[in-house]
Amino acid sequence: MENDKKIDAIIVGAGPSGIACALTIKRGGYNPVVIEKSSHIGVKNLFGGAVYLESIKELFPDTYKNFPYERIIKKHNYVIFNKDESLSVSYKKNDENTISIYRRNFDSRLADEAKKEGVCFAIDTLVVDLIIKDKKIIGVKTEYEEIYAPIVIVAEGFNSLLLNKAGLKEATEPKDAILGVREVIKLQSDEINKRFNLKDNEGAMYEFFGGLNKENEDVPLAMGFLYTFKNNVSIGVGVSMENLKNNKITPYEYLDRLKNNEFIKPLIEGGELLEYGAHSIPEGGYKKIPKLYHNGCMLVGDCANLVDSIHFEGTNLAIKSGILAGKTAVIALNKNDFSEKVLKNYKKELYKSFVIRDLKTYKSVIETLFKRRESVFSYYPKKIIEFFNIFTTPDNIPKKDKYRNFLFSFIKERKLKDLTADVISFVKCILEAVI
Ligand SMILES: Cc1cc2nc3c(=O)[nH]c(=O)nc-3n(C[C@H](O)[C@H](O)[C@H](O)COP(=O)(O)OP(=O)(O)OC[C@H]3O[C@@H](n4cnc5c(N)ncnc54)[C@H](O)[C@@H]3O)c2cc1C
Repeated sequence: MENDKKIDAIIVGAGPSGIACALTIKRGGYNPVVIEKSSHIGVKNLFGGAVYLESIKELFPDTYKNFPYERIIKKHNYVIFNKDESLSVSYKKNDENTISIYRRNFDSRLADEAKKEGVCFAIDTLVVDLIIKDKKIIGVKTEYEEIYAPIVIVAEGFNSLLLNKAGLKEATEPKDAILGVREVIKLQSDEINKRFNLKDNEGAMYEFFGGLNKENEDVPLAMGFLYTFKNNVSIGVGVSMENLKNNKITPYEYLDRLKNNEFIKPLIEGGELLEYGAHSIPEGGYKKIPKLYHNGCMLVGDCANLVDSIHFEGTNLAIKSGILAGKTAVIALNKNDFSEKVLKNYKKELYKSFVIRDLKTYKSVIETLFKRRESVFSYYPKKIIEFFNIFTTPDNIPKKDKYRNFLFSFIKERKLKDLTADVISFVKCILEAVI
C-alpha cells in the first residue's frame, strides 16, 4: 500500500461502523486507513432498506439530508398472518427520521464524505490476519503485505473470520444468528404510491409475523419485512439459523411463502425481480457481546454483535459504535497509550449510549421468542385473527357466548404448562425492559 503519511490507525472493513470510526479519528487530527476487501465500497453489502438517521446526524449535522435516500419512511406497518387471513396495524408518522436507501449508495456516500475529509481507503484488499505480538495487536496482514499501526479497529461485519481466527471472539452458534434473504422488485414509482397509499417521496415499511410455516412443520423464529424505495420494493425474511439447520427448509422457500401470501401478492404483482441476496445478522444481543477491546484493538458494529433485531436496527448502532471507538482511539493516540487501560473507555461510553442500553432492554427477548416461537409466531397470531373474525362476523349467536367460548378455547387448546410458560416468559421480558 502506498501511503507517505504515518498510519495512526487501521480500520478493517468499510461498512458504516468502519467509516464512522475512521472519520472520527481523522477529525481528531490523526491518519486512519480503512482496508476493504471489495473493489467498490458497499457493492456487496446488503440490508433490508431503512436507516434511522440519528447517528448519521451526529456525523453530518449539516449535510445528512443530502444523502441519496430513496424515500422518507412515514408509514410503519405491522401485519399478523394466519394462512391468508391478516390483521394489520398502520402507524403514520410525521417526522423525517427514517429513510429507505440502497446500501451501496449509503456506504459509498459515507466513504466519499470521509475521503473529502482526508480519510485514506485501501480497497480490493483482504485482511487475512491480525498481527499479535506480546498479547498486543500491532497491525494486520493483508494478501499483499503487513501493515503496522498502534491501533487496529475491527469492523469486519458479522462473519468475524479475523476475530475468530485470532481467538478474540467465539464462533457463533446457529441459535445466535439469523439468515436474512432479500429480493429487490422493480415497480413504477406511481404504482408504488398507489399500492401502498403513499404521496410523493413518502415511504412505507412492514414487519410481518406468522404464516410462514405449514401445518405439522416446526414453527421457525422468522419474520418478514418489506420496504418501499423510489422504483422498487425490498422484501425479505430473517430466519433463525438454528431452525434452518433443523427444519431443512431453505430461507428462499420461506420468502416464497411470504410473497405468495394473499396480503402481499397484490403489492408486488407484476414487478420485475432485480436482485436477490442473503446475509447473516447477529441475534445473540446483549448476552452475546464479545469483549469489545484488547491491547491495541477495538471491535465495532456487527462483529461486536451490536444489532437490535427487535427494531430491525443495525446501521445506526454500527455508526454510533464506530464514533465512540473513534473517540477512544483519539484519546489513546493523544496519550500514546494503546493498552486496555485506556481502550476500556470505549466500552464505558458504549454502555452509557443507547446502543447497549437498548440491547439490554431486550436482553431476553430473542431467547424467549425462540423458546416460545410456536406461541408467538403461530398460536397467538391465529388466536388474534380468530378474535377479529368473531368481532366482525354478525350471526345468530349472541356475542357474549362467542366471547366466552373464545376465552375457554385457550384452556381447551393449550396445555396449562404452555399457557403458564407463555405468561411467565412475557412478563419476565416486560419487567426486564422497564426495570
Ligand atoms: C437482510 C438484512 C436486512 C437488514 N436490514 C436492516 C435495516 O433495514 N436497517 C438497519 O439499520 N440495519 C439492517 N440490517 C443490519 C445492518 O446491515 C448491519 O447492522 C450493518 O451493516 C453493520 O455494519 P458494519 O459496518 O458493522 O458491518 P458491514 O456492513 O457488514 O461491513 C463490513 C465490511 O467489512 C468488509 N470486510 C469484511 N471482512 C474483511 C476483511 N477480512 N478484509 C477487508 N474487508 C473486510 C466487508 O466487505 C464490509 O464492507 C440488515 C442486515 C441484513 C443482513
